[in-house]
Amino acid sequence: MTAARLDGTAMARELRAGFASRVERLAAAGVRPGLAVILVGDDPASQVYVRNKVQACEAIGIRSDRFVFAADAAPAEVLDRIGALNADPQVHGILVQLPLPKHFDEQQVLEVIGAEKDVDGFHRDNVGALSQGRPRFVPCTPRGVLAMLDAAGVELRGKEAVVVGRSNIVGKPMAQLLTARDATVTVCHSRTADLATHTRRADVLVVAAGRPRMVTADMIKPGAVVVDVGIHRGAEGRLCGDVDYDGCRTVASLISPVPGGVGPMTITMLLGNTLDAAERRAALG
Ligand code: NAP
Repeated sequence: MTAARLDGTAMARELRAGFASRVERLAAAGVRPGLAVILVGDDPASQVYVRNKVQACEAIGIRSDRFVFAADAAPAEVLDRIGALNADPQVHGILVQLPLPKHFDEQQVLEVIGAEKDVDGFHRDNVGALSQGRPRFVPCTPRGVLAMLDAAGVELRGKEAVVVGRSNIVGKPMAQLLTARDATVTVCHSRTADLATHTRRADVLVVAAGRPRMVTADMIKPGAVVVDVGIHRGAEGRLCGDVDYDGCRTVASLISPVPGGVGPMTITMLLGNTLDAAERRAALG
């Protein structure tokens, strides 16, 4: 068997084309959606992520303002800026690029963002709303994974889903979304005994462990749907994921590549969350 590709680039393009009418509808109501992106420090990967997010916003007509702070900025400076953005009616979404430098308390910073502008979905009010099954902002990466599965017509009800990773930004919300769609979900982590016995049971396997090519062909069930969230840059500069793509595509029925899989969907969901925020404020949503 050779798996079909879950082509995140093509799916993202289609979804973004559909956003144009939402931007036009907002414009007709006198609203230009706006996203504020805060970057602290000079981590090269974070700079690339922020640039990509800003460009993606501009391409569909979302105004995007970038606020850059030095790596040794005082947390109070950043908190003050967030306070001002919370009060600014032109700003519908606020995003703080993670990770922050070590002298910041990340959760404290995330909690200062107004929950109604928290387009990353990391504020405890939004985390709580998702866990109660009445989501407001869903974190962009798991929302993107679910959108990919839906676009590919993958049935989730009654299926065995296994999520490798239990981070607040990917694994936990992913498990909640799959549970809400009636999959039977197992969450694995670094202390899971015999990971492969779990992954081999999965009809749908989502891997977000941050370990290059950790999931190999012998760890997946024939015909499984495999979504690779991981992203790593190898010594030679090539990107790879948490899944051994070449090996696993001979066993899976559907598999997402890296690059060109979850990454473009994540940014697309950020645009979607920002439009949701603007529509809610304009009472169009
Ligand atoms: P994270 O916060 O480091 O969490 C990793 C999770 O994987 C943890 O729960 C950890 O378990 C678990 N884990 C680590 N080693 C494992 C092992 N050998 N077996 C089973 N579980 C293991 O990472 P994250 O933020 O969730 O991100 C995961 C990956 O996705 C990273 O490569 C990241 O760069 C990538 N990512 C990509 C996108 C995108 O848009 N494509 C977005 C976000 C993240 P413990 O809890 O026990 O430590």
